[in-house]
Amino acid sequence: MAFEGLAERLQGTLNKIRGKGKVSEQDVKEMMREVRLALLEADVNFKVVKDFIARVKERAVGADVFESLTPGQQVIKIVNEELTALMGGEQSKIAVAPKSPTVVMMVGLQGAGKTTTTGKLANHLRKKHNRNPLMVAADIYRPAAIKQLETLGKQLNMPVFSMGDQVSPVEIAREALAKAKEEHNDYVLIDTAGRLHVDEDLMGELDEIKELAKPDEILLVVDAMTGQDAVNVAESFNERLGITGVVLTKLDGDTRGGAALSVKAVTDTPIKFAGMGEKVDQLEPFHPDRMASRILGMGDVLTLIEKAQTNVDEARAKELERKMRTNELTFDDFLEQLGQVRNMGPLDELLNMMPGAGKMKGLKNVQVDDKQIGQIEAIVRSMTKAEKEDPSILNASRRRRIAKGSGTSIQDVNRLIKQFGEMKKMMKQMSGMQQKGKKKKGGL
Ligand code: GDP
Repeated sequence: MAFEGLAERLQGTLNKIRGKGKVSEQDVKEMMREVRLALLEADVNFKVVKDFIARVKERAVGADVFESLTPGQQVIKIVNEELTALMGGEQSKIAVAPKSPTVVMMVGLQGAGKTTTTGKLANHLRKKHNRNPLMVAADIYRPAAIKQLETLGKQLNMPVFSMGDQVSPVEIAREALAKAKEEHNDYVLIDTAGRLHVDEDLMGELDEIKELAKPDEILLVVDAMTGQDAVNVAESFNERLGITGVVLTKLDGDTRGGAALSVKAVTDTPIKFAGMGEKVDQLEPFHPDRMASRILGMGDVLTLIEKAQTNVDEARAKELERKMRTNELTFDDFLEQLGQVRNMGPLDELLNMMPGAGKMKGLKNVQVDDKQIGQIEAIVRSMTKAEKEDPSILNASRRRRIAKGSGTSIQDVNRLIKQFGEMKKMMKQMSGMQQKGKKKKGGL
């Protein structure tokens, strides 16, 4: 999980002062010592840590006073703001050229995730921005790279331009640009060759492609799990080639977060996207403020809402809302909702976007594991249509039959029916409140 180790330590430290009505200079000093250790342990660049601590300290013992917050909360607010600033402050978006097509060069070392990210980015541009990108297979050295990109293209049903591995990457780029003009592609994503290390041959070749293709964006793909190595790679690429943005891959497996927190400060290049898994839709625009909130356990409700919006059919959602209001929700609706939540991604990832989730994680009985969801599905599928629509007919013998049919126990079935009843009650109350709120607004 992204930032897990760092998040735990920072949250532990900050919790000590959260409720404090008074924070002395000594408190701040002690806390900053712990924050410093946590950041260093997370493999954040030494100099970056030093500057960060100095800035927070200065503000925390200084004049930043908000009446609505306790001093403890103020310090947390300052840490949150400075973490956000450290990662670039505002979200940095992908370039759009004034004249189509926008050319994006994807660069990086072998294994960083460059080819995968090219596919993910194409998918993102189409899905979120309604664009029509052409992917270009110009990595002629890694044997499988061309095939890999072609496979991704097929899977996404998006075009991939390739000329095999016997033509120079510069020639491939030239032909690809001509093709993009012909086919009216508005983005051209060039998957360039990677090497195991930064070397002169690689840089020379990338320079030539840059010269020819005049990219609007040079995105460096680095593996977040390599920590400071990733930052060093970014520095080398930036000095030699000049990059316009960074894509941090494998953030899903990065418990420390050192690269994410240092790249911007060291190279002055913003992180534009984060790879959160191997699948093509697991690429997220990088929002420094949301990431800082996630690290501090304050949740990332905005990303959660965006995920929900892309995965939920609006008309269906309206219908479900009506059913909730009128208390008509059936077990089938319930199952459908579970499916939608599942589509949004692994549950622990979602949970981490919710405020206060850090505290909940200790509770293993929170019903969030995928296996339990499978069990719930099995139980609902073992019900008859009448039972799904009217759970009140579920007597003991029906419950026994369902347990048997779904390979679960009577207790499991009882628990689910009870939870369903409670959920219905809660939803009815909630939507009642919402309705009232709406009316009030309209009347004013
Ligand atoms: P390239 O040599 O830089 O083109 O690297 P690839 O695109 O072939 O990726 C190398 C490996 O990293 C593959 O197994 C990918 O599935 C994996 N990978 C890429 N991005 C991510 C990510 O964001 N999360 C995870 N968990 N794996 C990733």
